[in-house]
Amino acid sequence: MLERRLFTADHELFRDTVRRFIAAEITPHHDHWEEQGYVDRELWLKAGQAGLLCLTMPEQYGGAGADRLYSTIMIEEAARAGVSGPGFSLHSEIVAPYLMRYGTEEQKQRYLPRMAAGETIAAIAMTEPGAGSDLQAIRTTARRDGDHYVINGSKTYITNGYNCDLVVLVAKTNPELGAKGTSLILVETGTEGFRKGKRLKKLGLKAQDTSELFFDDVRVPASNLLGREAC
Ligand SMILES: Cc1cc2nc3c(=O)[nH]c(=O)nc-3n(C[C@H](O)[C@H](O)[C@H](O)COP(=O)(O)OP(=O)(O)OC[C@H]3O[C@@H](n4cnc5c(N)ncnc54)[C@H](O)[C@@H]3O)c2cc1C
Repeated sequence: MLERRLFTADHELFRDTVRRFIAAEITPHHDHWEEQGYVDRELWLKAGQAGLLCLTMPEQYGGAGADRLYSTIMIEEAARAGVSGPGFSLHSEIVAPYLMRYGTEEQKQRYLPRMAAGETIAAIAMTEPGAGSDLQAIRTTARRDGDHYVINGSKTYITNGYNCDLVVLVAKTNPELGAKGTSLILVETGTEGFRKGKRLKKLGLKAQDTSELFFDDVRVPASNLLGREAC
């Protein structure tokens, strides 16, 4: 009954598309992905081609401009099929909105269309070995050096951490201010000093690449700041 009130005929057509996509492109490979500890990158490209990523982002940034019920359908259908590997929700429903909300026009143009196409896989890195719920305890720093930030620290339990091309990193830009000195910095895979650690073995979500990330004197342009610097 609840479903009838919430979902329109268009939503149900979309649900059918998602169900068929999962049956054809995910379920047959999921056991293998659980063994290897991550889903193949090719899946992200296929999901992008099928229009299943960054659904709620505006069309001008490669999304579908869809309402949140479309995202809900993605989550429901993955749960229904028991496929926990693809980290699509984090990519589309957490990282993309951060970029949309806080990004400059240049940052949005650079990342969102590629994320919608599945060409750029995104992660968000908050948690550290010594900071989980108590996020103010993070020790990763991003110190300003002229036109750059120099980043040092490590993160753990990062969803999409092994496959990711882009990380929204939570770091202290003003450590002396405690929790208030925390900012968001965009770091791309391939930047010197940025290294991916091991994929963590978990009780469940075995095909999801939950990883460690390390940052040793990573220099990124100051324009990689997402939103304002905390001060
Ligand atoms: C599969 C998976 C994927 C993840 N993906 C990401 C990701 O993409 N990016 C990222 O940054 N992090 C990620 N995390 C980390 C996740 O955000 C942390 O596990 C979470 O913040 C909790 O931190 P913690 O594990 O250190 O537990 P702790 O903070 O040590 O908490 C342990 C227990 O103590 C309780 N507790 C803590 N503080 C208090 C308090 N003040 N009062 C009462 N109870 C308290 C908690 O509720 C919990 O039950 C992921 C974790 C998992 C398991």
